[in-house]
Amino acid sequence: MKPFVYHQPKSIEEASVLSAKNWEEAVLFAGGTDVLGLLKDGIEEPKEVINLKGLEGLDQIDFTKGKELRIGALVKIAQIAEHPAIKQSFPALAQAAAQTASPQLRNMGTIGGNICQRPRCWYFRGDFHCLRKGGDECFAVEGENKYHCVIGGGPCYIVHPSDLTVVLQALGAKVTIVWKGGQKTVPTSQFFVLPEEDLYRENILKPGEIVTHIHIPVPDSKMKSGYLKFKERDVWDFAVVSVAASVRIANGRIESGRIVFGGVAPKPWEEETLNRELKGLPLKDADLQKLKALALKEAEPLEQNAYKIPLARNLMLSLLKELMPIIPN
Ligand SMILES: Cc1cc2nc3c(=O)[nH]c(=O)nc-3n(C[C@H](O)[C@H](O)[C@H](O)COP(=O)(O)OP(=O)(O)OC[C@H]3O[C@@H](n4cnc5c(N)ncnc54)[C@H](O)[C@@H]3O)c2cc1C
Ligand code: SF4
Repeated sequence: MKPFVYHQPKSIEEASVLSAKNWEEAVLFAGGTDVLGLLKDGIEEPKEVINLKGLEGLDQIDFTKGKELRIGALVKIAQIAEHPAIKQSFPALAQAAAQTASPQLRNMGTIGGNICQRPRCWYFRGDFHCLRKGGDECFAVEGENKYHCVIGGGPCYIVHPSDLTVVLQALGAKVTIVWKGGQKTVPTSQFFVLPEEDLYRENILKPGEIVTHIHIPVPDSKMKSGYLKFKERDVWDFAVVSVAASVRIANGRIESGRIVFGGVAPKPWEEETLNRELKGLPLKDADLQKLKALALKEAEPLEQNAYKIPLARNLMLSLLKELMPIIPN
């Protein structure tokens, strides 16, 4: 590991100034479960490391009944999995947190770090100077691309690795970003970027910007949500494909709904056409085959990952059947 200057700012403002000053050569550090691996493997070689752990007020979960759930960026994933109000009102989020990584990693890893974690592409994590690292080739195109994206890719084909973000987007979550002298709150659907928009970063954060909170609207009693994750191994593992959905059910129909896929694209993947098709879907005798055919219709798989398309579609149907139990199998 290359030597670096270590900062322990006391306020968000101080952290923001430090990171803005040397943005290209500084890295933010929360639980460190992702950053430390990147530093040890020499994938990132920052001159400055800015530890966020001392920042006050970012380690709280605030639940306002009927209004919103606000989670500080330094809240641990384990806390989310175990929080009684989250388990009760946001079961999909608690499920996704409980299925994230291993107990040790959930005890260290924060929600801010989870949504901002870097890609897991094995070329990116390995000794390959690929496009995302400033090189001139994506090794996944002609190489081992079983786990890469099937949609939204090009010229880089990473998949977004977080379990939590898929659920957060289905629940309509927003992310608050703070910098010295300003702040903004954006929906998660606008927080992540595709490689064609920015090849080197996975989100919209600019110099000095820090994620401070995640806000999720509290669902009414007619809303149901769920999360399904397909892993290759029955122990801790990243999702090969995952799906989250939230649906509002009234008068024997889905009034509105959102479906978001993980593991298929460089960001949590949501399709407006699919959400529109959900609207008005009857619980009884619903035409699920139409939905299935619509999902990931524009996908362009690489040589080894076409299997992800039927997997994602079938996972989506299984989840909808869980959420709408009257649908015949
Ligand atoms: C073996 C292993 C298995 C894993 N399995 C899964 C899995 O199944 N599902 C899953 O979702 N994840 C998985 N992960 C990823 C893990 O969840 C993340 O490493 C963790 O959530 C990152 O949180 P952290 O606080 O440790 O972040 P750090 O490692 O401290 O930071 C991660 C990134 O986020 C940035 N960052 C951190 N906080 C902020 C902030 N507040 N504002 C702006 N940027 C910030 C950092 O600069 C860095 O780029 C796994 C990781 C490992 C090592
Ligand atoms: S998919 Fe992206 S990160 Fe992976 S080798 Fe290609 S350019 Fe690099």
